[in-house]
Amino acid sequence: MSPPESRLFQAAVMQSWNAIVITDADLAAGCRVQIANPAFCAMTGYSPDELHGRPLTMLQGPETDPAVIAELRACLKEARFFEGTAINYRKDGSTYVVRWNITPVRDDDGVLTHFISVQRDISESVRAEREIRLLARALDAASDPILVTDARERIIFANTAFAAVTGYAPEELLGKTPALFRSGKHDTAFYADLRESLARGADFRATFINQRRDGSLYHAEQSISPIYDEKGRVTHYVSVSKDISERVDMEQALRHAATRDTLTGLYNRRYGEHLIEDALTRADTSGEPLTLLVCDIDHFKRINDGFGHPTGDQVLRDTARILSQSVRSRDAVIRWGGEEFVILLDACPRGPAVELAERIRLRIHQHRHVEVGQVSLSIGLATRMPGESMEALIGRADAALYEAKRSGRNRLALAPLP
Ligand code: GH3
Ligand code: MG
Ligand code: MG
Repeated sequence: MSPPESRLFQAAVMQSWNAIVITDADLAAGCRVQIANPAFCAMTGYSPDELHGRPLTMLQGPETDPAVIAELRACLKEARFFEGTAINYRKDGSTYVVRWNITPVRDDDGVLTHFISVQRDISESVRAEREIRLLARALDAASDPILVTDARERIIFANTAFAAVTGYAPEELLGKTPALFRSGKHDTAFYADLRESLARGADFRATFINQRRDGSLYHAEQSISPIYDEKGRVTHYVSVSKDISERVDMEQALRHAATRDTLTGLYNRRYGEHLIEDALTRADTSGEPLTLLVCDIDHFKRINDGFGHPTGDQVLRDTARILSQSVRSRDAVIRWGGEEFVILLDACPRGPAVELAERIRLRIHQHRHVEVGQVSLSIGLATRMPGESMEALIGRADAALYEAKRSGRNRLALAPLP
């Protein structure tokens, strides 16, 4: 090598960001340092003078992996290339993780003269990697479902709880978008609201109805937050949720129980009165006609007496089913009490109401109950007069029912027109 070239190489070694150290090849003496560049001195805390002529075993300590050192020795002995990672000790006793390689150097006659080692302190990246692994494990161990997407909403992480709730394996979710969980139960305004919040940089919290892998739905209280980089650009979205299906199911069950009659599943009287009052209020503004039917099973006492109370119950259930199946979806069938039912025909004038009531009477009469056989129904019909109260309207329908009973049962009687 010509002198200028060697000066250039020397300058390059001295400037290198990587630590470079050159030792002799005297294995018995522990391979003593000949040249250490400034990066090596900075990494180890020793000055060039302190390093010169000393073996590098002085960098090893109790935490240095003996297996790595054994491999290193074997490579040196056989003059092979070595590469490895271990914990080393600085002059002040502190430790660092070093990744290094060693290349044997021979002279023109093939005699081993030196080892050149290039080293790097990787403590920081090892620590960061450990921290990331720890965080990932912590997120995975969290009992609440957690989902992380990139800025384009592709899933890059789903924890075990999320996978369990949705029925997907975490790997299956990677690269997909949360549109996968859309149930179709939210309107466009819901998603517009979501986008608007996130665009504003605000968290979005809402109760989501999501779809599982098997198509079933679940309710989740979900919070979605944007994550920013140091320049303020969104890099990720994190969603943390809670499966609240159990609570929602319970609320629905309670709501159902509060409005329904337990024997027949029809609306109970308390809720029925509320429905009628609502319908009357609506009719006041819309001016639509509204008709009530009051229905009562004929000689029901005889069924109980003749076949027993449980059979009477079954007749009530069957009758309730036939009534429900006979009305329009907007109508309400209410178990008013005992064997008496009120049917609210919303927005229904007298003519069609009479036809419907007659059809109901017929269907009840045509049905054959398993033990009891034929049963009949008497019906009183009243169409609301302007401004009439619920009590007055029911009173007139009741009077018509009484008339139907009096004139022979199994018939429809109409409240007289004013
Ligand atoms: P009418 O033709 O005049 O209506 O005679 P009816 O026997 O149907 O009328 P009544 O009011 O005398 O008898 C109704 C009976 O319904 C009396 C009551 O024991 C019975 N009942 C009320 N609630 C239930 C119930 O939930 N289950 C059963 N099995 N019977 C009930
Ligand atoms: Mg009766
Ligand atoms: Mg009765």
